[in-house]
Amino acid sequence: MVTIKLGKKKIKVFNLLVLIIISFGIIYALASLIFMIFSSKLSYKYNVNYDNYKVSTLVTFKNKWSSCYVTEKIKETSDYNIISKSYANDLLNDGYKINGKNTYKRVFKIKGSCKQVMNYYKDVHDPKYSLFTLNGSNNEVIEYGNNYVDPYVKGKINGKDSKDVEIRSNYNGNKIGSYVISYSLKIDKYYTKRLYRLINVVDTVKPELVLSGKSTITLDYGQKYSEPGFSATDNYDGEITNNVKVNNKVNETKPGVYKITYSVSDLSKNKVSAHRTVIINKKNSAVSKIRPDIIQKDGITYVNGIIIVNKEYSLPKDYDPKISKKAYKALKKMQNDALALGLDLSLVSGYRSYQTQKELFEKYVEKDGEELANTYSARPGQSEHQTGLAFDIGRVDKSFYDTPEAKWIDQNAHLYGFIVRYPKDKQDVTGYVYEPWHVRYLGTLIATKVWESKLTLEEYLGLK
Ligand SMILES: [Zn+2]
Repeated sequence: MVTIKLGKKKIKVFNLLVLIIISFGIIYALASLIFMIFSSKLSYKYNVNYDNYKVSTLVTFKNKWSSCYVTEKIKETSDYNIISKSYANDLLNDGYKINGKNTYKRVFKIKGSCKQVMNYYKDVHDPKYSLFTLNGSNNEVIEYGNNYVDPYVKGKINGKDSKDVEIRSNYNGNKIGSYVISYSLKIDKYYTKRLYRLINVVDTVKPELVLSGKSTITLDYGQKYSEPGFSATDNYDGEITNNVKVNNKVNETKPGVYKITYSVSDLSKNKVSAHRTVIINKKNSAVSKIRPDIIQKDGITYVNGIIIVNKEYSLPKDYDPKISKKAYKALKKMQNDALALGLDLSLVSGYRSYQTQKELFEKYVEKDGEELANTYSARPGQSEHQTGLAFDIGRVDKSFYDTPEAKWIDQNAHLYGFIVRYPKDKQDVTGYVYEPWHVRYLGTLIATKVWESKLTLEEYLGLK
């Protein structure tokens, strides 16, 4: 064992070392205790106002043994909830804890006296020590569908440019909404500056509304309006035809000019509207009718090439065409086809000359008087039978009205080129009561057109 001679006593070197270590320990502990007693709790408060948020921080420094415990309490305020949320996320990521509403807390220790730590802290937090600003606007508005190029930030620490910026973002240019880009610049191990840029993706483009059909529609009195259709699409919402609101006050039985309004809005409330004009003509207006082409030749009236005989247009005395071979042939065919179905369409009366009609009418006048006779028989010159194109078939009597024969004629005569010349409820137009037995030959094309139109020959030709 190694020993040192100290006078008479011999002290072992090991024991001496232990003694020295213990002494130093006691001195250090005492010094720390004295230091703690003489250095009271320090605090430092600072506020920073950024463009779209504010931060106020209270920092306290407290010595414990040879270290300084730093407690930061941060209170954040912003008019934008979305920024407060981003700020919270950033602080939680950096090890802060929530300490109340929009308030955060963090404790860390730095070796050394709190006085030194605080002075260092103040130096680093001095606004002149670092610079951190957004390029461009802090509140951007981007039209949906356009690209956004981040203009980034400027950062300087202790006079030197720093590119060491961390970026966090939830930006989605394909969706309308508000987004935040957060930029963090680490000034030192314990201090990070943060900036936030608000980005609003908006849709200010109006939908497209297209009307099908004409922009002005003219209708006859009572003619039903039928919507020609429309379609709507939006750059953001897509197909929105179902959202189109139609304001239609058209009254088909009230003549006038109407405006139908179509309008549609997209999700961003961009509204667009379109109009259609509807004109309802006056009652009995002939606007839509074609002016009939009336030709008179040798006292015979032709309308659009069709010979017409009625109480208004009569035939001359000397007109004597005899029976039309074409009409008679068609009649035979019709009679035969009807007969095959058990229907008797025997000819009662065919061609009459002027003289025959004169005698017939005089006979009726003698029997019923002129006024009544005129409703079922024609004055000479005014009978269609004089054209050779008209026939009375079946039975010339009101008892023929609802017979299967009368119904078959009504449904099929046009197929053979005939029309029922004096239809039901048209006495005000034709001047004659319903005569289901009286057929007039026009050829199948015209007869079918007249039959389909449900009009009298006079109406079909535009005479009434
Ligand atoms: Zn007749």
